[in-house]
Amino acid sequence: MTIPQPKQACIDLHCHSRASDGALSPRDLVLRAQERGVTHLALTDHDTIGGLAEACAAAAEVGIHLITGIELSCVWKSQTIHIVGLDFDAGSPDLVAALAHQHDNRWRRARTIAERLDRLKVPGLLDSATRFADGDVPGRPHFARALQEAGVVKDFNQAFKRYLGAGKPGDVKAFWPELETVLGWIHQAGGVAVIAHPRKYKMTATRLRALIADFGRCGGRGIEVSTSGQSSGDLGFVAELCRKEGLLASQGSDFHFPGAHWSELGSVPALPAGLDPVWHHFKSPIDHAGA
Ligand code: MN
Ligand code: MN
Ligand code: MN
Repeated sequence: MTIPQPKQACIDLHCHSRASDGALSPRDLVLRAQERGVTHLALTDHDTIGGLAEACAAAAEVGIHLITGIELSCVWKSQTIHIVGLDFDAGSPDLVAALAHQHDNRWRRARTIAERLDRLKVPGLLDSATRFADGDVPGRPHFARALQEAGVVKDFNQAFKRYLGAGKPGDVKAFWPELETVLGWIHQAGGVAVIAHPRKYKMTATRLRALIADFGRCGGRGIEVSTSGQSSGDLGFVAELCRKEGLLASQGSDFHFPGAHWSELGSVPALPAGLDPVWHHFKSPIDHAGA
């Protein structure tokens, strides 16, 4: 009699589908994750849970454990911060209402950008930007592509330099909610909040610790320690911070599209020893050895 050996868990708790700015449909994303050996996946689209139902169906089909996820933008001390929410109830009425409200805010911003660019006398910019956003709310990168398509600029960089970058007409600040607000959404829905890619904010250690303190006061519990495109020095720095501040450790690839060697589903450095993985605190905790 052979005893089946438990499959080693491969956990990726940060990635994007076409429901936000990723290239793959939620279903194709899950299929790719399965091919790459991922056993536990959280789809964390920007400010939407619109891809979860499709991802969930695909995950059930191929035998991947799907954890509910989202990556919420918010403001902390005038800086935009990304918070990953995990293991929440996607049907929570408060969360659904809050995200719908946020969606309206983002459309208002898109229309404001389009109005400001109106003086360029290029018709239909909002429509073409929306097309580049795959029908979702266009942001500045989508307007950049629309400007390029209209022949107003020669490339993406020029679009930002002339029309969309800091201080230019299309530089409409996003209407993001406060850190405390988005943490409230995640917690009300029974989820756990994680500070995404902490080194991307280019903060000093002191400022980062101040963020962690405020985050903790609002019930935030985790920090992304292992993420792609991070130096080993940064990994060590965040691991140490995680340990000292008593936070739970998360990991995720932040995958957006195939072909980027620096970010692939399931490919993140192992968590350094001595950390408390966030997935041990999920409602159905993930055991590392047995998937
Ligand atoms: Mn993104
Ligand atoms: Mn992010
Ligand atoms: Mn992300």
